[in-house]
Amino acid sequence: MELTFYGATATVTGSKTLVEVGGLKLLVDCGLFQGFKTLRERNWAPLPFDPASLDAVLLTHAHIDHSGALPLLTRHGFKGKVWTTSASADLCEVLLQDTAHLQEEEARYRNRHKATRHEPAEPLYTVRDVQTCLRHFQRVAPDGVVDLGQGVRARFTPAGHILGASSIHIEHQGRSVLFSGDLGREDDLVMPPPVTGQKADWVVIESTYGDRLHPALDPIEKLGDVVRRTAARGGVIIIPAFAVGRTQGLLYALYRLKQARAIPDLPVVLDSPMGIAASGIYDRHHQEHRLTAEECKQVHDMTRFVRDIEESKALMRQRYPMVIVAGSGMVTGGRVLHHLAYYGPHARNSVVLSGFQAGGTRGAALAAGATSLKMFGEYVPIRAEVTQIDGLSAHADQAGLIHWLGALGQAPQQVFINHGEPQAADTLRLRIQEKLGWKARVPDYRETFKLGSA
Ligand SMILES: [Zn+2]
Repeated sequence: MELTFYGATATVTGSKTLVEVGGLKLLVDCGLFQGFKTLRERNWAPLPFDPASLDAVLLTHAHIDHSGALPLLTRHGFKGKVWTTSASADLCEVLLQDTAHLQEEEARYRNRHKATRHEPAEPLYTVRDVQTCLRHFQRVAPDGVVDLGQGVRARFTPAGHILGASSIHIEHQGRSVLFSGDLGREDDLVMPPPVTGQKADWVVIESTYGDRLHPALDPIEKLGDVVRRTAARGGVIIIPAFAVGRTQGLLYALYRLKQARAIPDLPVVLDSPMGIAASGIYDRHHQEHRLTAEECKQVHDMTRFVRDIEESKALMRQRYPMVIVAGSGMVTGGRVLHHLAYYGPHARNSVVLSGFQAGGTRGAALAAGATSLKMFGEYVPIRAEVTQIDGLSAHADQAGLIHWLGALGQAPQQVFINHGEPQAADTLRLRIQEKLGWKARVPDYRETFKLGSA
């Protein structure tokens, strides 16, 4: 067995690990790089392996940093199947189409404004590429096992985090490697805790929050405080949110706050066609999360869904307090930019950051206290109150990661720590050695490991 890390090293983006086992070449996840420009440029470089040589892809979940480069694979000759859960396949359809749309729009914009060094500017991939890619998807049950041939089997188990998210255990001749995927938390509002307890000879674990503990303070209470404060001064609450997972958690949190009469009955707007589509998928797969069909309906009834761009712009003419949830989650693009450019300069408004903000993004700049942000080619002053609510994260914190590892039942020969910024990954490495006494290391970009003799 051999592992090569082609992404999610020293970053939380671009997840791609090549597993060579039993004569098969498998790719676990195929995500886009996001954040710093040097990372994003990797998306445009030729893939560091020949997609045509891959036998299959195993996809842990639908987030773009895990799935967003799949259309590049199929465009460059990949003929195999992409195995993932049914919910992840549904979510990928929405997320990948949206990514392709944004890419096409950006290329058109650059060509129109001659803002390109490459004539003409091309999208990274197109909607048509996504349609081709989606035909390679094969659906797996939430606890499903896939026989990949050559005696290689992959087992999917629920990882919490977001709908459909899985850990993947790959086994061949009694030897196995377990990929945690992105792990959710024990006390997530929407998702059940991640399943653990599978023995494996090697483990690859994420480390997004490897150096942090989630605050004990109830995140819903903190959200309620901001909403109440802002509404009292007549302001608007802007919440940049990932369309999948975070958006559904936030809407549910706002619903609970309203139920408890902890916030005024102000309008809650979901200004995100993708978030609306994802919410529909959460409703359909409600057996796989904590909300009942009835609760899904009530959250739905509470929310004003804005699909149309003109209706989105019209929100800025309204003069009463409201909550606007819009993408993207790290303020790298999407409708939230317009709202932030409009509402950001005024101190009566609030911006609530509710998810992980990768270095190099506007979200990270806001979290670090930036007083202006570059949007649409100019610097916009930010005087709105900025609040970060860490406790709403869909990721396990350091204690959660150690708990998940500890429950595996036996020490693996080696733990590989990926999907974390350097400080987070290395802190988790030390913690694993200290707490569990296990061998752990943080792989480098493009580093290969030969595992045992299998
Ligand atoms: Zn994720």
